[in-house]
Parts: sequence; C-alpha cells; structure tokens
Amino acid sequence: MSAWAVIVAAGRGARSGLRENKVFYPIDGRSALGRCVDTFERCGLFDGIAVVISERDEASYRALSQREGFARAVSRVAFGGETRRESVYNGLCSLPADVDIVAIHDAARPFVTPCIIAATVDSAREYGSGVISTPVVDTIKQVSPEGRVTTLERSALRAVQTPQTFAYEKLMEAHRRASEEGFPATDDAAVFEHCFGAVRLVTTEGAEGNTKLTTRSDFAMLGKGELPDVRMGQGYDVHRLVHGRPLILCGVEVPHTMGLDGHSDADVATHALMDALLGAIGEGDIGRHFPDTDSAYKGISSLILLRRVAEILRGKGFRLLNADLTIVAQKPKLAACIPQMRCALAQALDIEEERINVKATTTEHLGFEGEEAGISAQAVALVARDRAL
Ligand code: MG
Repeated sequence: MSAWAVIVAAGRGARSGLRENKVFYPIDGRSALGRCVDTFERCGLFDGIAVVISERDEASYRALSQREGFARAVSRVAFGGETRRESVYNGLCSLPADVDIVAIHDAARPFVTPCIIAATVDSAREYGSGVISTPVVDTIKQVSPEGRVTTLERSALRAVQTPQTFAYEKLMEAHRRASEEGFPATDDAAVFEHCFGAVRLVTTEGAEGNTKLTTRSDFAMLGKGELPDVRMGQGYDVHRLVHGRPLILCGVEVPHTMGLDGHSDADVATHALMDALLGAIGEGDIGRHFPDTDSAYKGISSLILLRRVAEILRGKGFRLLNADLTIVAQKPKLAACIPQMRCALAQALDIEEERINVKATTTEHLGFEGEEAGISAQAVALVARDRAL
C-alpha cells in the first residue's frame, strides 16, 4: 500500500501580518513548513511527500528548503491554485498513479505529531478516511442571515484540523466532482462528504496542541511561550599596582597606598565586567571598542565606558540578567566598599542592584596578587533578549 503526504503551503497568510508567507517564518530557528516536512518524514508512514506552494514563492521555497535541509525529503512540488481546494487538487494530481492513501496537511500546523498522523492513516486504511478532530471548548453560537442567534449543543460539536487522510482514488473522485460543480469547501473533509456522505473523525492525545498559526497574535503568543535567547559571557583582567595613582575598583576610589596602572583609570573590575558583557553578545572585547592607543580614553572613568557597553548591549536588543564579579587582591580589604561598588555598577548599567554581585578574595599571599604586584578581576554575565518576530 503506497501512502503519500501532501503539505499545503500555498496560502497568502495575509492575516498573520508578516511580510513573507507565514509558513516560511522561523519559529525558534525553523519554519512551520520545515517542521511539517520533518514530522511527516520522521513518522515513516509515507513513500513520498509533495509540497504545494504558490508560484510567486518558488524562489523563497527553494532557498528555504535548501537552508533548512528538507529539500531532499520532498519528492514533488506543485503550484497552488486560486482556492485551497484547487491547491490541494494540484498537489493530488502531482502524485504517482499507484497511490493508495493520501494525507493532506496544512503547513500552518507545525506542531503536528507522528501520533496524530498515524491515527488518521490507520483510520483511512480501515474506513477510507481519517480526519483529526478535537472536542469544542468554546460555546458556539449560530447566527442566521436575519441576525437570530441560537446556541449549538457543544457536546455534539467537533473542531476539525489537518492532517485529513483518505483513500486516494476516492478523494480524487470527490475533488473532480467538487471542481466540476464549483463546490466551495474550506477543507478536504467537506469535499469528501459532498461526494461520499461522511468522513471518519479521529482524535488522539495531543490533538489540542495541533494549533493553526493564523493571526499575528498567534506568532506573538509563540514568542511568549518560548525561552528568550539567553547568552553568557566571561571577562578577566589584570593591572599592575604602582605608587602615585588612586585605586579605583568598580568606579569607587578605595583608600590605599598604591593604585592600578593603566591608560584609563585602570579599573580592573569594571574592565572584566565590560569584557563579560561584550563577550556575551559576541562583540569582541573592550580593546576593540576602546583602544588604549586612542587618547580620548586617557584617564577616562571606566564607568563611562561601562555605560557605553550597556548601550551596545541594549542596541542589540539584550538586557543584563545578572553579573557576578570577583576581585582578587591581597590588600586592601574591600568588604566595606562593596555596597558602594554594586551601587555604582548598577547605576552605570541602569539595572537593579540585586542583579550585580561583587566579591573580593585574597590568594593567601600566593602569586602576583598575593605579592601585591597587581590586582586581577573576573566577571561572568548572563544576558537575554526576547525572540523577535
Ligand atoms: Mg584593563
């Protein structure tokens, strides 16, 4: 028994408000169409997959199917017609003559599962048709042309989705007849019913998740349900301790007999934090943004540079979730200055203080920090941005 799937992607999707065909739009990096093709291929029930696209989308489709790597899984590509019914018919006509079972699926339902597909195929094999359906959750009102409103009995109602799977010959016959009569139909079940009286409805676990992406808010909802794009970064810096300079750490002048040497104010902790932030968003390091060969940065407060880094971060759509810093210094004791440091960093970054943590440690007199030759600092930062539509 030969089984094929026809995935319909020829609609305009005008209600989605997206510039391109909505089924080409990436949801977490993969288009609705690509997801559908994957699921139909992965379920292992089909000898071939046909995709119906609009002729004007041909170039975008070719590029998308190559980019997402599903081109090879698609055996036939047909062009859509004026209506959905015509589009499906064109897809059916593209199939080989020996097909027994055909599953029709809307590419706008990317959350279809192998279990749902299998339920419709089993039913079609046994009864000639299998249409996935769910009980209706909302109470449905019927409005007559005169405006008379009546309430339908909810328990007797079913919402139908795709896939809708049929014996191929019968569905072809039903489509030919619907086409001759110009029968208007929004789905293949209606075409089939018109010719053969009734279809077999099936339901299965997960069918309520097989939703159709239609309006812009459907896409916006998806964005909300998804985890944001979270990135992390790490920074490390060392400056030499010298006499005759103030010691600036996290923007705070700390009383000490020595200070850090450097082109700017040599605020080693703020430098490590900036590198962590730039690292998280793939923007290199502070040397690239504020080269020490540029006299504009001579003696500059590193908090001013941190403000600029925060602007770069926001410019790329990211927000800082939290940052954690460790300052490694044998002397002086820093504990008393830490609240002021957190406050200064939080102000420069324009975020709540509780998202910034500053710690200090010694190295038990080991290494360059322990010998008081220099101070080092480390930072990690976590940033996020919402997935854009
Ligand atoms: Mg530095």
